[in-house]
Amino acid sequence: MGSIGEQHDRSKVPPNTYDALIIGAGINGVAMLYHTLKLGMKVKILEAGDGVGGVWFWNRYPGARFDSESYSYGYSWSQEVLDEWDWTEHFSPQPQTEKYINFVVDKFNMRDQIQLHSRVTKATYRDADKRWTVEIDNGETFDTKFFITAVGPLNKPCMPKMDGIERFKGQWTHTARWPKEGLDYAGKRVAVIGTGATGVQTITEVAKTAGQLYVFQRRPNWCAPLHNSPISKEEMAKIRQRYPEIFKRCSQSIAGFMHTPDSRGTLEVTDEEREAFYEHLYASPGFGIWQGNFRDMLYDQDANNLLTEFMTKKIRGRVHDPKVAEKLIPTDHGCGALRMPMESGYYEVYNQPNVELIDNTPNPGGTPITTVTETGVQTTAKEYEVDIIIYATGFDAVTGAFNDIDIRGKAGRSLREYWKEGPHTYLGVSVEGFPNMLMVAGPHTSLGNIPRSCEFTILWLARLLDHMNKKGLGCIEATRQGVKNWTNHVKATGRDHLVNHADSWLTGINRNIEGRDRRVIMRYTGGAPEYREKCEEIEGRRYDTFAME
Ligand code: NAP
Repeated sequence: MGSIGEQHDRSKVPPNTYDALIIGAGINGVAMLYHTLKLGMKVKILEAGDGVGGVWFWNRYPGARFDSESYSYGYSWSQEVLDEWDWTEHFSPQPQTEKYINFVVDKFNMRDQIQLHSRVTKATYRDADKRWTVEIDNGETFDTKFFITAVGPLNKPCMPKMDGIERFKGQWTHTARWPKEGLDYAGKRVAVIGTGATGVQTITEVAKTAGQLYVFQRRPNWCAPLHNSPISKEEMAKIRQRYPEIFKRCSQSIAGFMHTPDSRGTLEVTDEEREAFYEHLYASPGFGIWQGNFRDMLYDQDANNLLTEFMTKKIRGRVHDPKVAEKLIPTDHGCGALRMPMESGYYEVYNQPNVELIDNTPNPGGTPITTVTETGVQTTAKEYEVDIIIYATGFDAVTGAFNDIDIRGKAGRSLREYWKEGPHTYLGVSVEGFPNMLMVAGPHTSLGNIPRSCEFTILWLARLLDHMNKKGLGCIEATRQGVKNWTNHVKATGRDHLVNHADSWLTGINRNIEGRDRRVIMRYTGGAPEYREKCEEIEGRRYDTFAME
């Protein structure tokens, strides 16, 4: 196959003038590029990094891998890619996923349409001619009709609010900025700060060879076994035959994963049946325990408490020192109320002589970190001298990457200001006052298994652009009423979901960032099927809930 979009006659358009600019060359940006090029549009991706892959380019920390089944993560829209690409592990490690995205870029000759080293700093809508000016960090500017963000919800790493980080004389890194050349921690004294999904993967891997590992934990998480394993050629051939069924299953689930909730309620079964089901999920690969549990597990506190009790027993059973086990048991949220980290021997790490867990909770017995010193990490109790500090402290999630760009809509209106109290969107794809700005994986979409949810949005947007092209429409914009209705709908449908009752990036909490201490529903938790139904209904009505010119 030749380059897609080759039918576009570029000679007639001035350089740096585009039909669409896409921000970000991650899994979604690359798909958006493919589908807009296919429409014959002149398109470019602007990407801050020096390679493609997005989160799978940046997050090269040891142990980084999918928590979604590999074959549920890839693009479903290209039979050729499905036929040619072999996943080698059920939960793909970061290097393979990065390779996969590069494979797709090369397969469709899209590299020329991706400009690396180009961090977008400013995007300004021009009222006069209804186009956007986009500026990157070296001052170069671009002119475009559509400004499409594919920046990803977990794009901007967040360092902790802590004194002394720069003072430390050893090596240090954030997990999402892991040096390409690697970090040699074998035999060294290492501190890992943070125990979210990233920390859990990093700690498990680093503990294998570090001389001494200190884990600084401010809040424990409920973690469940991933049960990763290799995929043989023969197994991959069978998986390939099952692709239609796999994608269908994902499309039926609330968050795009292969796991759908059990139709039974937690209290509708006997204690023995419940225990057996929990055991089965705990012993099964992937997110089943989180996404494929009893149907009320993430909505009913009593139901959730029973799973929480089960998981508590598991931690106590796996960690030998009862005092350490107690520290690893969350007390501020039930199981699944935070995005569940999947692990491969995480709890056993704390049985190793080279690993020490430091409880940084502000609770009695906890010793919070006070500062980073020249030689290590100082808590209220003592200083831990180390050679390397790894910050697994998460992201300025969902809106962080938007806030980093000075986005100005009609009459110079600032998106940053507009979203100060939380995002306001229409369907998570459009914002009133920002014509022709379209978002992929923006706030208020269903997210979950990102490529599955976003693939729908990308194809939906491609059909919208096609419609606009065919009808000769110049502008699309959400209406004020549309934004109000959707934002209220996101809040209303999210009210009973237990994830929205806990502090995490999913509810916009980040105490390292000024003003981010109030819960905001960041994602649509009404379910991916319901989200798709809504979008398809609007498409059927020729997008009449948008303002079009
Ligand atoms: P995270 O879940 O936000 O966790 C950040 C960790 O850093 C938390 O333990 C947090 O403690 C701690 N922390 C932050 N600031 C601190 C401070 N000032 N002092 C002490 N501790 C501090 O971030 P993440 O682990 O990077 O994960 C984010 C998301 O990325 C995940 O939820 C998941 O969606 C995604 N992810 C996916 C995969 C995968 O697909 N396999 C892997 C990794 C991550 P508190 O809890 O007390 O705030």
